Amino acid sequence: RGGPAADLVRRLTRWADDFPEPGVRFADLTPVFADPDGFRSVVDCLAALVPDADLVAGVDARGFLLGAGVATTLGTGVLAVRKRGKLPPPVITREYQLEYGTAALEVPATGVELTGRRVLLLDDVLATGGTLAAAADLFTSAGAQVVAAAVVLELEGLGGRSRQGDYPVTSIVTV
Ligand code: AMP
Repeated sequence: RGGPAADLVRRLTRWADDFPEPGVRFADLTPVFADPDGFRSVVDCLAALVPDADLVAGVDARGFLLGAGVATTLGTGVLAVRKRGKLPPPVITREYQLEYGTAALEVPATGVELTGRRVLLLDDVLATGGTLAAAADLFTSAGAQVVAAAVVLELEGLGGRSRQGDYPVTSIVTV
C-alpha cells in the first residue's frame, strides 16, 4: 500500500520509546530523508498532491526540508513557518495549546504576499494535530487558502486528523 515512498518510510523510520518524554513513541524520519531514494520518493509523492499550489510552506523544523524539496519540484517558492521568536517583527502569530503551556508559530507579516495564495502545508509527523491546525489557521487568517496539508507519517491513535479544518489532509504512511 502506498508505493515506493511508503515502503521506504516504513523500512527506514527510526522509532524511539520514551522520547522526548516518558510515554511518547517518537518517529525519527532522519534516515528516510538521508536516503537518496527515500527523500526523492517522499518529495515526489508530496509534490503530486497539489501540482497547482503556488506556495509551499514547511513547519519548523523538519517540515523545512520537505518544503524545500517539494517547492523545487513544483517550481514554487518555499515559506518556513517558524517557532516563536525566530523572525523579526512584524509577524503574524498563532498560539496553540501544548500538553503543558502554549507554543506559537509565526510567519512574516510583510514581504511575502499571502492573500489569495494557494498553500500546500507540510510537516513530517501528524501527532495530536495542534501544530498543523495552528499553521493552517495562520495562513487562513492571512487571507491564503490551504489547498492541502500533508505529512510523511500520521500517528492515527492520537486523533490529529479530527482537529484539522476544511482542507484535505494526506499522509504517506499511517501507523
Ligand atoms: P502535534 O502538534 O501533536 O501533531 O505534533 C506535531 C509536531 O511535533 C510535528 O512537528 C512533529 O515533528 C512533532 N511530533 C509530535 N509527536 C511526535 C512523535 N511521536 N514522533 C515524531 N514527531 C513528533
